[in-house]
This record gives sequence, C-alpha cells and structure tokens, in this order.
Amino acid sequence: MSTRPCRIAQIEPMTTARALRGPFDYRLPEELSSQVDVGSMLVVPFGRREVLGVVTGLCERSEVSEERLLAPLRALDGDSSAPPTLPLELVELAQWLAREYCSTLARALSLVLPPAATRRLGGRKRAVPRRAEHVSVGASTPVAQLTNEQAEVVASLCAALAGGEAQTRLLAGITGSGKTEVYLRVAAEALSGERGVIVLVPEIGLTPQTVARFAERFGDTVAVLHSRLTVAQRREEWRRLRSGEARVCVGPRSAVFAPVQRLGLIVIDEEHDPSYKHEGDPRYDARTVAARRAQDSSALLLLGSATPRPESAHAAASGGALRLTQRPDGGPLPAVQVLDMREQTHGLHTLTVQALAELRSQSGKAIVLLNRRGWSNFLTCRSCGAVWNCPQCDVALVLHRAQDALACHHCGHREAAPRRCACGSTSVARHGAGTERVQHELASMLQDADFPVFRLDADTAGENVAANGGVGALLRRFERASAGVLIGTQMVAKGHDFPNVSLGVVLDADATLRFPDFRSEERTFALVTQLAGRVGRGESSPPARVLVQTMAPQARSIAHAAHHDSDGFLSGELQRRASLLYPPFSSLTRIVCSATDGGRAAAAAGALVADLRRQLPTGTRLLGPAGLFRLRGRERQAIVLKAAPARRTVVVEEVGQAVQRLADTRGYGDLALSVDVDPQQ
Ligand code: ADP
Ligand code: ZN
Ligand code: ZN
Repeated sequence: MSTRPCRIAQIEPMTTARALRGPFDYRLPEELSSQVDVGSMLVVPFGRREVLGVVTGLCERSEVSEERLLAPLRALDGDSSAPPTLPLELVELAQWLAREYCSTLARALSLVLPPAATRRLGGRKRAVPRRAEHVSVGASTPVAQLTNEQAEVVASLCAALAGGEAQTRLLAGITGSGKTEVYLRVAAEALSGERGVIVLVPEIGLTPQTVARFAERFGDTVAVLHSRLTVAQRREEWRRLRSGEARVCVGPRSAVFAPVQRLGLIVIDEEHDPSYKHEGDPRYDARTVAARRAQDSSALLLLGSATPRPESAHAAASGGALRLTQRPDGGPLPAVQVLDMREQTHGLHTLTVQALAELRSQSGKAIVLLNRRGWSNFLTCRSCGAVWNCPQCDVALVLHRAQDALACHHCGHREAAPRRCACGSTSVARHGAGTERVQHELASMLQDADFPVFRLDADTAGENVAANGGVGALLRRFERASAGVLIGTQMVAKGHDFPNVSLGVVLDADATLRFPDFRSEERTFALVTQLAGRVGRGESSPPARVLVQTMAPQARSIAHAAHHDSDGFLSGELQRRASLLYPPFSSLTRIVCSATDGGRAAAAAGALVADLRRQLPTGTRLLGPAGLFRLRGRERQAIVLKAAPARRTVVVEEVGQAVQRLADTRGYGDLALSVDVDPQQ
C-alpha cells in the first residue's frame, strides 16, 4: 500500500451507461488518503446516487477546481479499516479488456470485482460464511504412476514453468489419455515454486470429476468458483484467493479473473469448448484473456484438448504441440461406423436399433447424442400450412410435450401447445425429433427396472437442480447404474469419465454442419470425436463401438472424426481457412445494430458503414450490412470486418470510435449497438 499521501483519486463509478465516461476525479479526505491505492473500492456520490467506485489512478491535482470535487463517502466493507482492494494487475487487465472488446471501463471492471460487490454498498461487515464443501475426502485415492508419455509431457511443461517466461503450450491428447493427471502434476510443480494456479473448465456442473480431482489433490489450497455456491460463499472463496490462503482456483470462464497471487500457471481444459466465450458485453474470450494474463504474469498457459481449435493448432505449429496418443489403461479408441441416413425413413437406423437391443440383452451402457432438445422442432397446420412461430423472433417454436407447451429457444417465450389452427383445422403436424421424443422412443423400446433411460439436456438440468441435486447427481446415477442409456444434447459429450460405456450413438451428426458458420466443421468434428471419446473407458469395458447417423456421410468433419484423425482434420481445415481468409489468417469483428423499427436499424447500419469506410485501414474488408433474423422483438443488421491479424488492434480501435460516434447521435430510436471481437458464432 502506498504511503505517499495523494489528494486526488481518479475513480471509475460502476454504472452501465455507455454515455458516462469515467474515470472522474474525487478529492480524498485526510483520513482516507494514506489508505487509498489504485484498486481500492470506495463508495462514492455519483449524481443523486451512491455507487461503488474503483480507484484507477492517483494524482496531485485535478483540472477541476478542488472545491468543486466531491469526496468518497467510505470504504466498501467497513468504515474505519483500510478499503478492500483489487490487485493492480486486475485493474490493468480491465483497462485492457475495455479497449480490446470495445466496451466501457466500468463494465470491464465489473468482471474483476469480488462477487456481487455492487450489491454491498451498505458498508456493514457480514459474518464470514462457512466454507463450501466441494468434495468429501474419505480414504484419499492413491496418486497414479505416470505413463511414459505423460511423464515426458509433464517434464517438458515443468521445464517451461521453471523458465519463468510467459509461454503457451498446447496439449493435444486423445480422449481418455489422462490429461487431467498432467494438469495436476504441473499445478503441483507451480505450487512448490510458490506460484498460483488457475484451472478453467467448460461448465462446472458438467465437469464435477475434474473439479473433484483438484479438490482432492490440493485440499484447502483450492478455491472453487461453482455456480451453485451462494454469493456469500463465492465472496469467501474470492477473499481466500486474494489473501493468498488459497493458491489454486478452479472454475468456469469467469475464473480467469480470479485474484490469484503470483500467478504461474493457467490451465484451460477442453480448450475447444464454446462456453469460454462470454456472450454479454464485454464479449470476452477467456482464452484470449488467459493469454493476456499469462503474458502479464510471466506465466505458463496450458491449453488441453482432444480436439484443439484450428487457431490453437496453428499457433502451436512452430513449437509443436505436446501429445498423448494412448489411454493409460491401454484401451483402444472405439471403432466408429458412419450410417448413411439418406435412404432411411425412420429416425433410428436399423443397425442402431439392433445395437441397442443387443446392448440391453448384454446389460451394457450406452450414450446417445442428439444436439436438439424438445419433442419436435416445429409444428405446421395440415390444412393451411401455417407454421407456429415465436411472436418475438423469426424462428419456429419447439414443442415440449411434458409441459404441453411451445417454447422459443432464442428468447424463452412460452405458450400452450395448440389444439387447433387459426383456420379452424385441428390437424397439426409435428416435424423432427428432439431429445425428449427420442428418450420416449428409447424408453418404450428398452426401458425396464434394470435398464433405465436417463436424459440430460437444459430442460432436465433445470428440473434436476430443483429436485434431485443437480446435473452432478444425474451423471452419478448414470455412472452407478450397471446398465442403461444416457440420451442428451452436447452436454453428454463433455469431459465425462464413465467406465464401461460400450456403445455411443450420434443422431443427426450433420445438424451442426447446416448452420451457415465457418466454424460448423470444427464444431461437428469436435462433437462426434468427443462423444466417441466417452466410450470404451475402464479396464473391463466390453468391445466398444460408435454409430454415427448422418445425411452427410462424406462430410470431411464426419469422415475424419470416424477415424479419430484430429491431425488430418486440422490440416485440411487450416488449408480451407487460409484460402477463404478466415481466422487464424484474418481477424473478424462483428457489429450488430438492432432496433424495434427495422428501418432505423438499417439506417444506423448504413451510417456506420459509411463512417467506417472512411476510417478503416486499407485492406480491411467490410461485409454487410446484412439482415439477421428478428430476435426478442428487435430487427437486426450485422456488419462484419475482416482484417489481417496484424491490423486487429487498429480495427478494434476504429470500430470503438465509430460506434461511440453513432451512439452519441440521436434519431435512431431505441437503437442498440453490440460489438463482438473474434465472434465465435
Ligand atoms: P482426458 O482428460 O485426457 O480425457 P482423463 O484425465 O479423464 O482423460 O483420464 C482418463 C482416465 O485415466 C481417468 O480415469 C484417470 O484416472 C485415468 N488415468 C490417468 N492417468 C493415469 C495413469 N498414469 N495410470 C492409470 N490411470 C490413469
Ligand atoms: Zn391452418
Ligand atoms: Zn423468441
């Protein structure tokens, strides 16, 4: 803490408005000036309100005359003691985030604040909550002897760690090759060198095993930022990290902002997972933020996946990725058979039906993936052809039969399932199948007391949180069952490590390919490969196989996934990206203008394009404006900028300024602007 008495503090008030641009100068009273530093959190008067403010700078004088400056009211949490502070490193990270993602400093700072800080303006200290129990440690499991491959990888990573310089390494290890054990060993090495560790996992509810392994190995040194913790518990975990009591933080993407001291290692498990991208402003990518933090702290960034992103593979190409090519139990990857659905009339291929029946007679276990929830995708009237659409969005409503409801998967709108059409007809056709319907079919085909059929998707996850102890409990029930089927969306393909699953089935594998998105191929490849990776684990697993039903059996992503050929897929995909100038051979920025009035959204987009054309560096390609489908009652226009990777920073800066100029212009009604740097969809 600074001992130099400063009289003026530059403070960023935590407000969400884009128009109010801080930081603002405040006068520090005598009693506060020796205690306040950059990062201090204070309650300040702002307009007619009291808001939380973060000190971003200290200086001797202000351009505003001193009598006109206001003084902070008190420290956050307690009035006499020193105010709680953010680490300087995180204040600087927020400043970078605001620039990098065309956001505001206040919004960026809100990401690095302690949990729910803005709700605690009362200033009263609260009782310290009991720590959350993350795992019950009984007998502790013995630490496995590393395989030769693992030992080599660990040695190489420990050497990188010892170098003490910022580095990024990619660990490309097949599914089930024991990547978690590698993370644990390298984390232990970082801790023994007095350095802190952040471990990011895709979705914490879906990865209880990874979290449990860390908690088990490192005990109280681990803080877990779990979404099911109460605010008080999360605040306590934050405090333990900030004070250095805890040195390892395990959590989802937001854990990249954890106040870990002397950060030495950041692990990103399943680095290909889309959940690392945040879809609210600032639209940060935890992988990009992690790289920045590693740079700032001279830390090692370790990306792990069986299906690395083309971007990561390309970046690792010069140094070479670290590889794990075998499973420690010696088990082979399952044989994958692609089933052509173009000639089939029923949703399940005859071979799939056969394989499931066989599995049941052998009392085996299967996982079935269909990346679409609900009963059927859309409804039409058999007489007049009308389609049931969302009133707020230009998309069809999905039938959820258990709730007897139609739901919009984009805005959450719900209405009762129709009995008749507006034309009077009572003949309503249901098209397509989602997880709910397939679960029903599988259950009527296979289920009995010894052969349960479980379903895991966002719907059952929600019900389970309320009733049965969360997704973790559902996963454990499937794990403990001696036989049965787990059907679900992409959630079933996450990093689960269930022994003795001998059959995997992917239904409509090319569904993800039908999205008009240059990442469709990579998503499809990852989904099929990851599902196949859940199969054939454990020493007593019966011979394992995977069936992939598709209308596009020749598709590159599906053919390579069927051969577990990640390298082949990546090299082809990188060639395609290079020829089309997609990332990593370009950087993309997307701007979306939206308004309830379509004309205003289009006019704003047109004005933005005209402005940008004058400012952007030469060689930047500007695509659009192009209409997107109406969402939540708002018409949308998108503009995409494609620039050489080296021009990324300049382009983002120009976009930020152009968006600000447009936001300052009046006359576009309820126009909203959103900027997505490196969009993932
Ligand atoms: P990945 O994350 O690469 O898919 P996991 O880390 O889940 O793989 O490991 C797969 C299984 O192998 C786990 O059950 C893990 O406990 C086990 N395992 C990892 N390393 C070893 C080892 N050296 N010896 C024996 N079993 C191991
Ligand atoms: Zn009709
Ligand atoms: Zn909707």
